[in-house]
Amino acid sequence: MQKTLRGVGVSHGVAIGQVRHMGTAVLEPTATQIPAEEAERERARAQQAVDAVAADLIARGNLAGGEAQAVLEAQALMAQDPELAADVARRIAVGSSAERAVYDAFAAYRALLASAGEYLAGRVADLDDVRNRIVARLMGVPMPGVPDSDEPYVLLARDLAPADTALLDPALVLGFVTEEGGPTSHSAILARAMGVPAVVALPGATELAEGTTVAVDGSSGEVLVEPSAEQQQELRRVAAERKAALAGSSGPGRTSDGHLVPLLANVGGPADVPAAVAAGAEGVGLFRTEFLFLDDSAKAPSEDTQTAAYRQVLEAFPEGRVVVRVLDAGADKPLDFLTPADEPNPALGVRGLRALLDHPEVLATQLRALARAAEGLPVHLEVMAPMVADRTDARAFADACREAGLHAKFGAMVEIPSAALRARSILAEVEFLSLGTNDLAQYTFAADRQVGALARLQDPWQPALLDLVAAAAEAARAAGKSCGVCGEAASDPLLACVLTGLGVTSLSMGSASIPYVRSMLAKFTLDQCRRAAEAARAADSAEGARAAAQQVLSGE
Ligand code: PEP
Ligand code: MG
Repeated sequence: MQKTLRGVGVSHGVAIGQVRHMGTAVLEPTATQIPAEEAERERARAQQAVDAVAADLIARGNLAGGEAQAVLEAQALMAQDPELAADVARRIAVGSSAERAVYDAFAAYRALLASAGEYLAGRVADLDDVRNRIVARLMGVPMPGVPDSDEPYVLLARDLAPADTALLDPALVLGFVTEEGGPTSHSAILARAMGVPAVVALPGATELAEGTTVAVDGSSGEVLVEPSAEQQQELRRVAAERKAALAGSSGPGRTSDGHLVPLLANVGGPADVPAAVAAGAEGVGLFRTEFLFLDDSAKAPSEDTQTAAYRQVLEAFPEGRVVVRVLDAGADKPLDFLTPADEPNPALGVRGLRALLDHPEVLATQLRALARAAEGLPVHLEVMAPMVADRTDARAFADACREAGLHAKFGAMVEIPSAALRARSILAEVEFLSLGTNDLAQYTFAADRQVGALARLQDPWQPALLDLVAAAAEAARAAGKSCGVCGEAASDPLLACVLTGLGVTSLSMGSASIPYVRSMLAKFTLDQCRRAAEAARAADSAEGARAAAQQVLSGE
């Protein structure tokens, strides 16, 4: 049935394709009593599902090759283990459904493995994955985890955690739609990093059936369900037009009267660098180093491993500026070696710089790795700390940088209202500020950035957030230092003009947004940007601020 759903557009462009669900992790079939005459049928269903899953694992192993192939083949063997098959048959004979029998037989086997020492215990996760696959097939629900698909698809999820991202194949994901997550959630950040259109905070998104055709407009936030051929054609035409207009924009970020605002890229590691270079990024404004370590969060990476990863990013911008953020673990990005377990409220807990100051050896290793990575390169390395609350924090970070012998500028992220309000005192310790507007909005409005229902309060157009940006930018101007924005606010082309008007000195964003911001900024003078900023700050709501800025800039 044709219909239009509305969420929050967070990554420009149009994606048209069939939806595939990000499967849920644990499926527990209900325990029902099956009549004896159905036992044979249930046994056959169980066998078919086991065979299909094993064949699928082998096929995917053949495609992947290397180490992955060995793991997938081992999983296929687990699926076909004769003892498991016998246990499943026994359970079906006494009245279990096929799915429940598989579920329980694996649970028994799992308990055996888990108690059998370290090596076997390490296989438990693989075993759970096999069980979930078989049970999902029997229940006719999506496979757990990232969809198995050879065809490009629109990914549908409740929300995406940073750890999910490592498993996505960018060549297959046309776009994202999520039910949860606001404009600053990791789903949104990831979509921008991959340059795919995305809509978040879409109520009921996960109720769309697997295989439904949708058209996702990441600019307007609209998702057309079963769009007609004419609608698809029209959307494609508009998207192509927009793209062609952008292709004409190049060069450094500047207003129409030549005020320079460097446009930098947000990257999560070396894999994001080619897109940044292609988009004409003038450097990196935020290297989220924790993204490199999310897939194995159990141990701190070695100094050598880190050095190699940092060097790859630094080498890509020979004369440019690269701002590296030291590990920002905690809250939505936990790392086991840094994040305390069982915090009652992780977003307000020991995260970011706080965790690093509790583990000085982890911070020192990272800073030494950065110093080594930059050796002999002409790059302008800048290093900053996440979640700086006050001058004491800023001083502790600056001291750690000096002790590590780092020849770089060191700075503080402004993500906590206290840091914006007292930016002047923080600037006595560090050489630059970078506004993390995602967390700054979260803490200003007491609105969890992962909760889609609070998207209104996460809107970076909120005048209270603009006031804090203005306070930090003004303090930096007075101190003769720089103050960039590296939160998602910088990727909204209209807001980028307002931020420039507020005195922000550089803008850093997912690479795909750079052409949009560049072409918008080039349309207006610095004075127009200042007037738009004033009008936005005078408003009482995010919508009011947006409308007021729009009005000033369109000359109405
Ligand atoms: C921010 O909070 O705005 C920011 C840039 O950091 P992250 O999104 O990684 O928390
Ligand atoms: Mg942050």
